[in-house]
Amino acid sequence: MEDSERRPREPGTLKIGEIGGVDVLVRSSWLIVAALISVLIAPAIEQVEPGIGNGKYLAGVAFAVLLYLSVLLHEMSHALMAKRYGLPVRSITLHFLGGVTEIEGEPDTPGREFGVSVVGPLTSLAVGFAFLLLHPVVPDGLLRLAVDALAGANLIVGLLNLVPGLPLDGGRVLRAAVWRATGNPHRATIVAGWGGRVAALLAFAFPLAQEPLTGRPASITDYVLAFVIAFFLWSGATGAIVSAKVRRRLPALRARSLARRTLTVPHDLPLAEAVRQAQEAKAGSIVVLGIDGTASGIVNEAAVLATPEERRPWVAVSTVARSVQPGLRLPADISGEPLVRAMQRTPASEYLLVEPDGGIFGVLVSEDVDRAFAAAR
Ligand SMILES: [Zn+2]
Repeated sequence: MEDSERRPREPGTLKIGEIGGVDVLVRSSWLIVAALISVLIAPAIEQVEPGIGNGKYLAGVAFAVLLYLSVLLHEMSHALMAKRYGLPVRSITLHFLGGVTEIEGEPDTPGREFGVSVVGPLTSLAVGFAFLLLHPVVPDGLLRLAVDALAGANLIVGLLNLVPGLPLDGGRVLRAAVWRATGNPHRATIVAGWGGRVAALLAFAFPLAQEPLTGRPASITDYVLAFVIAFFLWSGATGAIVSAKVRRRLPALRARSLARRTLTVPHDLPLAEAVRQAQEAKAGSIVVLGIDGTASGIVNEAAVLATPEERRPWVAVSTVARSVQPGLRLPADISGEPLVRAMQRTPASEYLLVEPDGGIFGVLVSEDVDRAFAAAR
């Protein structure tokens, strides 16, 4: 399949590099967080390096960059593991709450799901311990402050990501376990999604429990941060639950059984005649053949309806046909998730279904797929 064609990037993301064929992207929201981290850590920098002046902000930005480089290591470990299992990795995006690795498709076994997800927190914990080991070696001052902060941040990232709820890595670990126990990946996603919702509620309520637990009353910042994290977890968990419910219905979608009966006509046939022949043959779609006898276009129903009846005898059928680009040509046996992914990759109202020997099987109309999906339970 044409996996090499890249989807357009989301607005507000910039590409900062490429590692092993994987795009590394940064959301613009990250810049705000980098500035915020810089301002927050600046007083601590001034304390250990009194003569630094306004250089403390620069040192703060450098620290933010180092912090996100360790997030990048975490994401790269997911990417490498996915690649090892033959899953294409589209990109790694760093955003304000960390990073996300976009892997196409999903691990096909619970064991692989476990491997791809657990490697991230393990990497963060390893990086955290490595910085802990550096602590006695580096001289007191700015360097030690950075080493300690990076040790703490990576250990926290590693531990928090092991919380068993989606969208966290620990949620995927839980999903792998439930998948293995029940044999049902969709049910496993729903269980792990509920784990994420519970984690969201706990994060939201945390400021209330903060004073009894830590002795420090919660500030406005703590409430805002708890809200942001709870919102992130809740929406990620809900997204996972919804998509699991959707995907449970996908196997019912089979291109071959949804295809419309198709009439093939020469490209220079008048439209009116093509429509007449299609009605006579009770065909729901028309494919236009090029001069060489292969399918060159699919007639677009909307374009036919938009052509006034009195003009139809005078225009060639090819004028209302969309030319068959590679993405519009699907194997007749495609079904379920691969079908939906292929349709998302090249959105269109009609697709040509082709037999393994290259023959035309029929036309798949997007509306028919939507309708079948709505009816599937
Ligand atoms: Zn991760």
